[in-house]
Amino acid sequence: MRQQMIRALIYLAIVLLMANISPVIDIFLHPDIPYLDPEHLLTGGITATITALLLSLLISHANRMTSVAHELSRLNKTLREESSHDSLTGLYNHRYFQEMLRHEFLLAQRHQTELSCMMLDLDLFKEVNDTCGHPFGDLVLKGTAEQILREARATDTVARYGGEEFAVLLPNTDLEGATRIAERIRVRAQEYTHQDKDVAMRVTISIGLASTRPYSPQKPEELLAFADQALYRAKKTGRNKVVAYSALAAPEHP
Ligand code: GH3
Ligand code: MG
Ligand code: MG
Repeated sequence: MRQQMIRALIYLAIVLLMANISPVIDIFLHPDIPYLDPEHLLTGGITATITALLLSLLISHANRMTSVAHELSRLNKTLREESSHDSLTGLYNHRYFQEMLRHEFLLAQRHQTELSCMMLDLDLFKEVNDTCGHPFGDLVLKGTAEQILREARATDTVARYGGEEFAVLLPNTDLEGATRIAERIRVRAQEYTHQDKDVAMRVTISIGLASTRPYSPQKPEELLAFADQALYRAKKTGRNKVVAYSALAAPEHP
């Protein structure tokens, strides 16, 4: 509002200035016309005023167009952000993860590199909600997301896959490397205390892992399914552990 007033004052100043200097300019342009001719002075003043008014209208229109363009680009950015991110944790969302999985899988195939995939699920999270309430559960989800991000690299895709499930894509990472990172995430999560006012709690996570070697999944969905089966085994065999996919153990999945 203040900015608009300042702008209006600037335009007014331009109008007044133009109206005043126009007759002076005319004296130089038309030295043959008596410069104090009142009729000529009046015509010059009116022309200058109209020109300045038109000019100020044009400037104001251009300004408005610029601010509309800024607003549009801001909205566009928000929209892009919302369509790819989870609003609670700020991590990538399920949809974006699926897109990246396909993308990274193709890249790994083309460049003959290894791609690893991690599925993480909070252990007995229902109890956290039941004993400390849903808002505290949300706080735990946010805290866990931060712990995962601390161990992930800039090239990894870290997503909230669903309710209390997370997923990480690790390009150029073999099963051994991914296992090391997964173990670091598991330990970090187990040692972190989630705190809100008088409630403090630690939670653990189970992690399932799979890589493009040694089992050579044929499709991106298959790599994800392998990681999911490994997670299932981690849950089945005691929770708070990292399990890598093994074809021998696979048939157990429902
Ligand atoms: P398990 O170790 O077998 O994974 O047990 P669990 O209790 O974690 O598994 P279960 O699938 O039974 O419970 C998941 C819980 O996650 C239930 C659901 O209410 C909770 N949940 C899902 N999304 C959210 C969320 O956005 N916020 C909160 N606070 N809770 C959520
Ligand atoms: Mg769970
Ligand atoms: Mg779950």
